[in-house]
Amino acid sequence: MTSEKIPYKIYLSEDEMPMAWYNLRADMTTKPAPLLNPATGKPMEFEDLRPVFCDELIRQELDNDTREIPIPQEIRDFYKMYRPSPLVRAYCLEEKLQTPAKIYYKFEGNNTSGSHKLNSAIAQAYYAKAQGLKGVTTETGAGQWGTALAMACGYLGLDCLVYMVKCSYEQKPFRREVMRTYGARVTPSPSMETEVGRRILAEHPGTTGSLGCAISEAVEAAASREGYRYVLGSVLNQVLLHQSIIGLEAKAALDKYGVVPDMIIGCAGGGSNLGGLISPFMGEMLRGERKYDFLAVEPASCPSLTRGVFAYDFCDTGKVCPLAKMYTLGCNFIPSANHAGGLRYHGMSPVLSQLYHDGYLRATSYVQTQVFEAAEIFARCEGILPAPESSHAIRAAMDEAIKCRETGEEKTILFGLTGTGYFDMVAYEKFHNGEMSDYIPTDDELQAGFEKLPQV
Ligand SMILES: *Cc1c(COP(=O)(O)O)cnc(C)c1O
Repeated sequence: MTSEKIPYKIYLSEDEMPMAWYNLRADMTTKPAPLLNPATGKPMEFEDLRPVFCDELIRQELDNDTREIPIPQEIRDFYKMYRPSPLVRAYCLEEKLQTPAKIYYKFEGNNTSGSHKLNSAIAQAYYAKAQGLKGVTTETGAGQWGTALAMACGYLGLDCLVYMVKCSYEQKPFRREVMRTYGARVTPSPSMETEVGRRILAEHPGTTGSLGCAISEAVEAAASREGYRYVLGSVLNQVLLHQSIIGLEAKAALDKYGVVPDMIIGCAGGGSNLGGLISPFMGEMLRGERKYDFLAVEPASCPSLTRGVFAYDFCDTGKVCPLAKMYTLGCNFIPSANHAGGLRYHGMSPVLSQLYHDGYLRATSYVQTQVFEAAEIFARCEGILPAPESSHAIRAAMDEAIKCRETGEEKTILFGLTGTGYFDMVAYEKFHNGEMSDYIPTDDELQAGFEKLPQV
């Protein structure tokens, strides 16, 4: 390691931004299981996926072998508006925790959408445009993905239809208006606009929706409109590929100062930021070049890795999507109504699921009051008001650093700070008023979901 003092923020120049995404699957000996067609039980081929996804994105989805996929110049130009993103040495947090550990975080909240999701949104919108499509449809839960996609579509002049989980639509009117500012049409889900929405509303009148249900609606909306395709902001292999830019930049910045992390931590919803952050490091580990300790952090109220099962399941509640082999709580799982911390998806990226299953990755969970406690400490020392999702990683990084205080170990910890929390102030308000409670699903509740898994 160099003796040079490490600055608070390590910036790369535009020219140092990666020229290609890194496809982690190329280095996996056990590849993630293929998506299956629920009707036939056979792997989804290129032609099967064409009615729903853009051609180039299907190629990326199915490509388990090409290690590097060049980033088109137009996407690089867009990335330059907010990338390379800073890698920050959390000196103030280290001081606050009185830890010998060295803490770094890669900050992805420096763009108007407020999260890392823009990295994949611009890529997906670009390939849709390049194919000559008119528009894309998608779902959004907390709103970050919808906002990112609206920005990308606004920039490229593509139509953007967003199905927003109804409870978020009502709780986060400003998120909705940001999307509309960028030209997206936002519909609360479940809606009466789609067959699947009408069916879900008939079965569960008054439901406030779920991500899985909004996905079903968005897929139907794309399939039933000429010149439209569906895009998804997490879980899929292609999304992890696009998000590898986070890890590639983080690694380049650390390499400049000769810093090697011992531990890499990320929050995990569908797995895209964590998968992207760890990709180049995990690649080194898979090739036997180096060892790292990777940790996924999830909410105790939606514990897909820590308490789910590794099985084929639907990606959506309406069962219109292919089956993916992943750690899942069952596609009907909806986190308890008081859950405010995001990361609500019932499943996990097949790539991360496989790596977890094979022992390359660890996972842990926290209840939301622990997460907001960490968010507040972080906001006060580091200045950034973190997204509740990101705060899962903050909590785990802080706990690791506190362990180091006890053992005297000078561990180097890197974590992903995926975004800012300005649209989550209702949740922060509940926390401040002492009105936030924690809910951990019982084994029986989870078992009910596992029993309904499709038999493959
Ligand atoms: C969407 C989101 C996440 C979780 O999604 P992943 O696909 O698991 O990365 C985490 N943090 C923020 C700020 C998000 O918007």
